[in-house]
Parts: sequence; C-alpha cells; structure tokens
Amino acid sequence: MTAAPDSAVSEQPARTAEAAPRKRAPGGKAAPAKAPAKKAAPRKAAAKRPAAKQAPAAKGPAKKPAAKAESRTALVRRARRINRELAEFYPYVHPELDFENPFQLLVATVLSAQTTDLRVNMTTPALFARYPTPEEMAAADPQELEEIVRPTGFFRAKARSLLGLSAALRDRFGGEVPGRLEDLVTLPGVGRKTANVVLGNAFGVPGITVDTHFGRLARRFGWTTSEDPEKIEEEVGSLFPKSEWTMLSHRLIFHGRRVCHSRKPACGACPIAPLCPSYGEGETDPDKARKLLKYELQPGGTGQRLKPPPSFVEHQKAVHQPVVPAGEGE
Ligand code: SF4
Repeated sequence: MTAAPDSAVSEQPARTAEAAPRKRAPGGKAAPAKAPAKKAAPRKAAAKRPAAKQAPAAKGPAKKPAAKAESRTALVRRARRINRELAEFYPYVHPELDFENPFQLLVATVLSAQTTDLRVNMTTPALFARYPTPEEMAAADPQELEEIVRPTGFFRAKARSLLGLSAALRDRFGGEVPGRLEDLVTLPGVGRKTANVVLGNAFGVPGITVDTHFGRLARRFGWTTSEDPEKIEEEVGSLFPKSEWTMLSHRLIFHGRRVCHSRKPACGACPIAPLCPSYGEGETDPDKARKLLKYELQPGGTGQRLKPPPSFVEHQKAVHQPVVPAGEGE
C-alpha cells in the first residue's frame, strides 16, 4: 500500500507565527474584553464562557473562572471552532516522522516513544538503509540493531519490539503492514496509538492519536476529563466527524508541542485563547509568551522533519524563515 504521509495537509491559507497574539485572551485575567469575542467566540459558547463575572470571588486569585455548564451543542460548536482555528494557524500540519512507506512509519512510531521525533528522524536513515524490509529487519543481529536504535533511548526494548513486529509481519502478514487496527495491535510494541498513527497517515483511515499532548490539550479544552487514552479517543471522537480525526490529531499535537506546553503554556500567544477555558494556566503576557513558542514559531526555527513536506517548506518560505534542520524541543 502506498504511503500518503503529507497529502492530507490543509488547503487553508498560510498565516505567520506573528499572527498568533493578534487574538486576545478570553474573559480571563489579562484579556481585553472586546477584541476576541468578535473573531473567535462561537456565538454563545465562548462568548459567555468562563465568565469572570460568574467566578465566585470566594478565595484566591480567581484565575480559573467557575465552569458554567456548557450544553452539548455548545461544546461541539466550540470544539469544531477550535479545530478550524488550529487548521488556519497550522495550515501545514503533518506527521513529524520521516517515512516513505507503512513499514517505515510503523518502525519510526515505535521508536518515537519517550523521545523526540527529530531524534527518531536522525536515527532512521541508517536503520532503513541497513534493514529496508520486515524480512531483513527480522533477521537482524539483535546487538547490531540495538546499536543503531540506541540514540532513541530504551534501545533494548525497542530493538526487541522491532525484531518481534518484523517477524510477525513476515510470518503472519506476508511481509506487509496490515491496514486494520485489530491486526496492527497484535504486533509486538504496537498499541492503539501507534496503530492509529499508521492507519491515519499511511492508509488514509481516520484515526485519533491520543499521545501525551493530545490528552493534555483535550482536557484543557474541556473536551474530556479523562486520563484514559481510550476514553479520550471515544469522547473526542464523538465531537467531530470521522473525516477530521487524523488532521485533528496532528493539529492538537502540533499545538501541544509549540504553544500549549505541559508546564508553561504560552497563553498570551495562543491563537485559540478566546475559546479555551484553561486560558491563564500559563504565561499571559504576550511578549513573554511569544518567547515560549517552539519550532517554526520561533524566528529561524523549523519543525522536526529532516525531509519536510512541500506545504511546510512553502509556508516557511512565505514567512521568510530558512528551512534548516531543527534543534530539539519538547
Ligand atoms: S496555551 Fe493552552 S491553556 Fe493557554 S489558552 Fe492556549 S490552548 Fe488554552
């Protein structure tokens, strides 16, 4: 099956990183009350949202406004609005792992656990040159394989997974990566997250990829309260048409890596601040927040792909940033 890694990127117009802070924060602490409501507030949901006026000024610095119950309809509208805003802000989203076929994507995704995609992208060229097929990887000398994947960390366990999944592909699937979730999850080292990455990006089968970024952002957006990846997948999936699932996953993961960081989200430079009930969890000062942005949102920065897709290269050119291999980030 032919890989289709980058073909699904949004057709929407490019926007520069500098455009980020043009939208102001919502009713939270630093938000000027008027500008945002117009552009971003989905009619009722966000406009009335976390109203500071509703916050019980009981104790403490009412940083988070009291959560007013949001109807299901309002939640769906706000969720879809966030998705559209992110699509506009990141018109070039893509999987950040370099790959040329489903086998390479599967292997790269297994290697990406507990490390950056950039690190994996720096490791896989030598790996795929040495073992281009499942048959060849299954026959690899374990120690040699371990040495090649060592830079990605947890290299013994990862090498074991690669040997196991390659042998399974050879023995049970005729040397091909299967295009069904129920088959993929039977491979050693492959769970739902990896399976959905492969299905969504190598087979064009919509899938939600719940990694650490996706889960964190879905909770911050109020789309779920769960920590359980399968529950998150189910709850978020119910807010969107299936056809959006793969690109939605990329958008949340991009946003989590670049703006809505785990420890210090850059709320003051966030394009969806007016729609986010968690505005104020991070830095709200626009200048300070801009300094927290990562990858291509920093002057001179770029993404994690060593072979970035054309849409990304074009976008970078449009904002006059050179496309060079990135430094590591979150
Ligand atoms: S950075 Fe994250 S928490 Fe802050 S407003 Fe944006 S999405 Fe919400």
